[in-house]
Amino acid sequence: MELFEPFRNEPYSDFTQEGPQQAYRQALAEVRNQLGRDYPLIIGNKPLETGQWIVSSNPCAKDEVIGRAAKAQAAQIEPVMAAAYQGYHEWSGWSMAERARTLVKLAAIMRRRKLELAAWMTLEAGKNYAEAEADTAEAIDFVEYYARQSLRLAEPLPTYPYPGEENTSFLISIGVGVVIPPWNFPLAILTGMTIGPVAVGNAVIVKPASDTPVIAAKFMECVLEAGFPPGVINYFPGGGSDIGDALVDHPRTRFINFTGSLAVGLRINERAAKVQSGQTWLKKVYLELGGKDALIVDESADLDLAAAAAAASGYGYQGQKCSAMSRLIVVDKVYDALLKKFLARVGALKLGPAEGNYPVNAVISAKAQESILGYIAKGKEQARLVLGGKTARPDGHYLEPTVFADVPEDAAIACEEIFGPVVAVMRAKDFSDALRIANDSPYGLTGGVISRQREHIERARREFMAGNLYVNRKITGALVGVQPFGGFKLSGSNAKAGGPDYLRLFMEMKTVTERF
Ligand code: NAD
Repeated sequence: MELFEPFRNEPYSDFTQEGPQQAYRQALAEVRNQLGRDYPLIIGNKPLETGQWIVSSNPCAKDEVIGRAAKAQAAQIEPVMAAAYQGYHEWSGWSMAERARTLVKLAAIMRRRKLELAAWMTLEAGKNYAEAEADTAEAIDFVEYYARQSLRLAEPLPTYPYPGEENTSFLISIGVGVVIPPWNFPLAILTGMTIGPVAVGNAVIVKPASDTPVIAAKFMECVLEAGFPPGVINYFPGGGSDIGDALVDHPRTRFINFTGSLAVGLRINERAAKVQSGQTWLKKVYLELGGKDALIVDESADLDLAAAAAAASGYGYQGQKCSAMSRLIVVDKVYDALLKKFLARVGALKLGPAEGNYPVNAVISAKAQESILGYIAKGKEQARLVLGGKTARPDGHYLEPTVFADVPEDAAIACEEIFGPVVAVMRAKDFSDALRIANDSPYGLTGGVISRQREHIERARREFMAGNLYVNRKITGALVGVQPFGGFKLSGSNAKAGGPDYLRLFMEMKTVTERF
């Protein structure tokens, strides 16, 4: 008998309608009344202030403080590790069904607070209504999906019979891990990376990204209400480079679940490989990293569909998605026609505050804005700037949607992840050439093809080296349970979040043989 009703993805609101818009504005007003509060660390379900703070501000109104999160120091690392192990000893003894019910309770709490959680991200991360709601829906999906997936792992695995013996293989949890998410899906990715390992009996120390600690604190409020035993999920914001290294290096850290940039991921990989004094295991490390995602348009494509898919994939959330299209590779025959349609679409995107539900909002921080402007400057030297390229509105970290055309294959903007509203349009001789260009990257996260030609589509299915390949649609917006997500090559360990194998990564198999 199934414990829960079948998994279904959380529905989205239609924000073209006045009713949903009104409800969202109401949620924003309620959140506005709570700005500027302080959020302590949560260790063993208890608050702890550290005397130092991370100040979180609104990317679209840079002087506005969203809240302050306590900054963890080296002195709190032993206490948090001890609390997490205490939590682990209790939680790992619960049955899968008991844990799954706690997850379903958490999902219900988050669902009741859905618009409020989304509104926090509109203000803290600069996400318009649909982007922020989708982030919240994905978080809820992860919790519901992993609750159901965990039940599949409760039963012993089948083995062949052997005369005179009983042989049983079963999966057990592994211990305490460190969860290090990025700021770009500050609720969805943080929730999935936390709840995956927790669903199967592990405990975690969550170090949210420093740009978005307040939405992580709101998740923690939901966790506390759901009734997880003390120490199972600990909220531990802090500077990536100071406590990040210490958490990764700690001899009692059993696994590291990281999503972020290639540079930080490689650093973690190297450090975690070293067996520290007193450490009695090999650390498991999961790294979901960057992308340089390409959309190919061939001569048979519906060019209106292609232009719409490219604009949505390149500029949704200002291009700050690991799945965002940053290379638009177009075959020569339709290059000029497609570029014209693409520019018309991108040029029509209105820029303004996320709170006003504009399609394009500010980028996350002054640092990000500066880094993107650096790429735009390089782009101007190596390619043809055809749209945007400048900052906009001084009240936030705004950048115009930017398009470079005729970008050579070796240009920095064609090779490196920019993580902003900048697209490199590249000309290919034909479909084979387009596929070659798309694959000529150290990354392999998402990709797409717009085509009506069956041979091209089948060839892309076989040869396009992307962990998530989309045909005749946008290349962002993977759904939990529907499109398991994770890349190839230097895009990471292909953990496939929201997929059927994810939870297994945080377990070990034990085989017991008894001869009678
Ligand atoms: P980032 O690497 O700068 O930071 C990620 C996290 O690592 C943050 O919490 C940060 O505080 C922490 N950190 C920084 N230095 C650390 C250290 N030395 N030790 C431990 N932790 C440390 O990345 P970001 O800017 O937050 O996120 C954007 C990146 O994430 C992009 O490259 C994007 O492609 C990638 N991303 C990948 C996926 C995926 O599924 N593959 C999903 C979302 C984002």
